[in-house]
Amino acid sequence: MGEPIALFPVPELDPAAFAAAQHEVFRGRKLRIGRSGTVHAVGETEWINGLTLPAPACHQGWSGLGAAGDLVPTDHEATCRKCRRLRGLPSLEEASGQGTLFTLG
Ligand SMILES: [Zn+2]
Repeated sequence: MGEPIALFPVPELDPAAFAAAQHEVFRGRKLRIGRSGTVHAVGETEWINGLTLPAPACHQGWSGLGAAGDLVPTDHEATCRKCRRLRGLPSLEEASGQGTLFTLG
C-alpha cells in the first residue's frame, strides 16, 4: 500500500505549493519511513518560510524530507508505540489481546 512520492525539490519549486501538496498526500493517512515496516501517525515538522511538512508524529528522525521519497504514505494502522500513545490509541498488545479489529479513521 502507498506509493513513493514522485516529487523532488527543485529550486524553482514554490515552497508553499510544495508544502500544501505534501500535506495533501498524507492527509488522513499514516506514513512509513523508507523501507521500515513501522507505521507512524502523521504530524508535521517546521520546514522553511514558516511552512510545515508532514513528519512522523513521534518526531522519529529520518534523513531528508518527504519530498525525497523517504516518507511513504500508507493507510495501514499505526504500529509505532510512541505515535499510538500520542494519538491516544491502545497499544497493539492491548488491541490484539481483546481480539477486536479497530477501525481507525
Ligand atoms: Zn512514530
